[in-house]
Order: sequence, then C-alpha cells, then structure tokens
Amino acid sequence: MISEPRLRTLLRQAERTAVNGKLAAALTLYQQIVEEAPESANAWLGLAQLEPDPAKKEAAYEQALALEPENAQALVGLADLRGEPVAEELQAATQETPEPEPAAPPIAEKEVMREEETAVIQPTPQADTLELVCYRHPNRSTSLRCYTCGKPICSQCAIKTPVGYRCPDCIREAEDVFFNARPLDYLIAPLVSLPLSLLAGFLLLQVGGSFFFILLIFFIGGAVGSFIGRLAKAAVGRRRGRYLPHVVSATVILGGMVAAAPALIGLLLGNFSGIMGLLMPGIYVFIASSAAFYQMK
Ligand SMILES: [Zn+2]
Ligand SMILES: [Zn+2]
Repeated sequence: MISEPRLRTLLRQAERTAVNGKLAAALTLYQQIVEEAPESANAWLGLAQLEPDPAKKEAAYEQALALEPENAQALVGLADLRGEPVAEELQAATQETPEPEPAAPPIAEKEVMREEETAVIQPTPQADTLELVCYRHPNRSTSLRCYTCGKPICSQCAIKTPVGYRCPDCIREAEDVFFNARPLDYLIAPLVSLPLSLLAGFLLLQVGGSFFFILLIFFIGGAVGSFIGRLAKAAVGRRRGRYLPHVVSATVILGGMVAAAPALIGLLLGNFSGIMGLLMPGIYVFIASSAAFYQMK
C-alpha cells in the first residue's frame, strides 16, 4: 500500500504533467498510481480523463464511481462517454469546486486537488499525440519498453540484456536475487583472505627480485590470487555479494604492500634507487588482486 502523503505527491505530479500537455507521461503516471493505490478515486478519475481507449476509459470511470459514487466529474465523464444525458446540477458541479465531503479529513487538500483536476480536462487527449515517454524522464519520448515490466524507457535508461532491454528497477531487482551474501560474509571473507594475503606479501619480500623470479611473478601472482579468492569464496558458502570481490581483492593489495614496504619507505626517505623494488610487488598486486576478484564474482 502507498502512503497518503506519497499518493498526494504522485497525484500532483501526474496532474502537473497533464496540465503541461505531456499527456502520455501523465497517463503512464496515473497507470502506475492506480496500480499501487487502487483505492484512490482521484487516480482512477485522472486515468479515465487521459485514457484514449474508450473501453478502458469507461472501466476507469466505473472504478472511480465504485469508490466515490457521488463524484460529479466521474458521473459526467461516464455519461458523456456513453452519450447519455447529464443532469444539469451535475454539469454545474463540475464547473465549480464541489462541496467538500464532511467524512474526508484532509478537506483543504481535497479541494485543491479537485481544482487542479478540472484543469486537467482542458487539453483533450488525442490518440495521435500519445507517444511513449520514459517513466524516469517524462520529457523524453521513446519507443522502447522494459522487457520484464513493460514500462516505457528511454535509450539512456534502458539496459541491454541477452533477453532484451530492461529498466533499471527490474535490473536492480534481479541483482538483489542474485546477490545472496549475508552481512556476516563481509567479516568472514577478509578474515580468511587477509592472513593469506599478508603471508603471500611477506614471502614475496623474502624471495627478492631476481630476474628469473620476475618472469615467474605473473604465474605466481595469478595462482596466489586465485587460491585466496577460491578459499574466501568457499568460506562464505559460495554466496555472492555485490562488494565481496572488492573486499577480498583489497586484502590482496594490502598483502602486496607489505612486499613493497621497503621500497616505499626508501622513497619516502628520498632514496630513489629502490624504485625498482616496486616493480615486483606492483605486478604481483595487479595480477593477484584481479585473479581474486574474478574468483569471488
Ligand atoms: Zn529515461
Ligand atoms: Zn522493468
């Protein structure tokens, strides 16, 4: 269910959009509002006024009347649609602000909204001016729709997937299902990977920088990174977290900084001869952290 203040905000937004002549955008907004708040007669009324399809238009008026049987605008609109005669006092009631119902608590709000609604009637929707607009950018027309939920999306918002374009909301929802890690996993993963990463950095420091070892560092870095990544992955029960790869990869980098420490300290003290000492840890960090990241994904 939608909260009362949010509903009012959404209705205002839809009305403003309609008043500004962006009828298709307003129609989309009303469709979303009735979906979330089917108990709002105002939303059904707004939808009915913009709906180009006569059958849907009639259904929307009927929905509004089911909720507010006395609603003059809905009565007149429906009578117009069916070509039935309209009682004069009803006709007059739609011209001026109707009497506020005593039962409704936010009376002032309702009066304001009704006035805005009568303004919505002015621009008559025409079927040929109705084009799709992005649900996130009401001023951008588009021909794309989200493959999953059918909402219109502009090319900038659309995300291409193997099964077609999808909207950011649906992508996010799909990702939330995909990422099943628990908060504790963000503690477990670094607890497993940090000691190993520090050990690897320490060993690298011992072996030093012989030329032969530089050739091997590519293989060693990849193997060490993969090993740490796989172990951390197993430790978190193979669950996936949005940021778990980043966390594990960061511990590998931290371990590599141990190996780089002598050269880094040398640089700080103005001893640039040790700059070559950064080469090995640098290559190691780059390869090992990438390998760990890949394993955690
Ligand atoms: Zn957009
Ligand atoms: Zn979608």
